[in-house]
Amino acid sequence: MTRPHSTRPVPKLGPRMTKQRAAVVDTLRGLDKFASAKTIHTLLTERGESVGLTTVYRTLASLAEVHAVDVLHSPDGETLYRDCLSHHHHHHLVCAECGRSEEIEGGPVEKWAELIAARYGYDLVGHDAEIYGVCRACQAKR
Ligand SMILES: [Zn+2]
Ligand SMILES: [Zn+2]
Ligand SMILES: [Zn+2]
Repeated sequence: MTRPHSTRPVPKLGPRMTKQRAAVVDTLRGLDKFASAKTIHTLLTERGESVGLTTVYRTLASLAEVHAVDVLHSPDGETLYRDCLSHHHHHHLVCAECGRSEEIEGGPVEKWAELIAARYGYDLVGHDAEIYGVCRACQAKR
């Protein structure tokens, strides 16, 4: 999931910074990959934080709503989250096996989206394009 071009400045952490919310954000920051709510919940439990799975789901959804985290829908239908380093518009190259990801420029995709929207007379509000592959570490494990 990428942000529309016309985004306002991104609020990094959203409004209410509760203890549980802080714990979720902290866990996300420690990951360089996209992770599901379940994975994040497991990591929190391992760290000894008592945050319920429902709270994790809700917290992630609200962080995504204010664009404080990036959201991705995996090919198998799971919703994955990541606290990206760059908070400007970008795309992702995602490992289909472990969820590791690189933040990449959209390159020709940016122009292409504009051209297509213009051609059909649409007012462009955003576009979405992620690339999936298998990272080097996962290739080595094969
Ligand atoms: Zn990102
Ligand atoms: Zn991988
Ligand atoms: Zn783009």
